Amino acid sequence: MKVKFWGTRGSVAVTGKNHCKYGGNTPCIEISNDEEIIILDAGTGIRELGIELLKKKNHKKISLYFSHFHTDHIVGLPFFLPFYNNEFEIDIFGKPYVYNSIEEIIDLILKPPLFAITKDEFKAKINFHNIDVDYIHEENGLKVQAINLNHPNPTIGYKIELQGKSVVYFTDNELIQNNHTSHNLKDLITENHPELIKFCTNADILIHDSSYFMDDYNKRIGWGHSSNYATAMFAHLANVKNLYLFHYEPTYSDDKIDELLSDTIEYLNQLNSSVNCFASADFLEVELE
Ligand SMILES: [Zn+2]
Repeated sequence: MKVKFWGTRGSVAVTGKNHCKYGGNTPCIEISNDEEIIILDAGTGIRELGIELLKKKNHKKISLYFSHFHTDHIVGLPFFLPFYNNEFEIDIFGKPYVYNSIEEIIDLILKPPLFAITKDEFKAKINFHNIDVDYIHEENGLKVQAINLNHPNPTIGYKIELQGKSVVYFTDNELIQNNHTSHNLKDLITENHPELIKFCTNADILIHDSSYFMDDYNKRIGWGHSSNYATAMFAHLANVKNLYLFHYEPTYSDDKIDELLSDTIEYLNQLNSSVNCFASADFLEVELE
């Protein structure tokens, strides 16, 4: 089972000499083996994934799951080339918001004046699935489950289990919605998130929103994102094996993300945690065996 990060930046895509190491594409993750492919979100990272999929003989049937529909998670959608190729069948999953269906939300993105063409140009077979937080799908050794996260507009997290391994994707999740310090996090998260902790317990990989350092978070309360310490404490309480920091604040340079990683590892060490912590980066591939 492979996890590949195609986009790891939050809010808006960035580029330039300060963003070479971690990249600047907005969220998109591939989870796959030889038969199955699941894509999480359609940020700008999905464009290059689409080019890659056109070159392959397998993965003609794709499942695309949306966490929510803020622009950083959908902006790559019109540039995903498999949509325009009749060899592909694409199942699109998400929880509708305001509009009644996922199809209506996709229509909203793919029409003038936001984009030149509509989804009538798609050649692939597209199936739309309106799901909610009780969603569970099981087939051929693959299991996908959904759960509610904490964000200004409804956002759902996913757990994907394949070949006996589990990956949890919690982007745009604000664990503690008030000013906090590293000292009261354990109680706050334990009290507020028993269900999220249970959902993630013993996961092989947790990919979690870690948009800000603690100090920066405290200036952005209610924006729907987590501090690196809240994320680390949550991963520790859920006893996950590997934590990947994700959805970086756009102004953070490569050096700043290096610091974010070392600061988070230092905090986990203070907790005597067994969680391994990594910084996700565009095009990073992780094999789970
Ligand atoms: Zn986002």
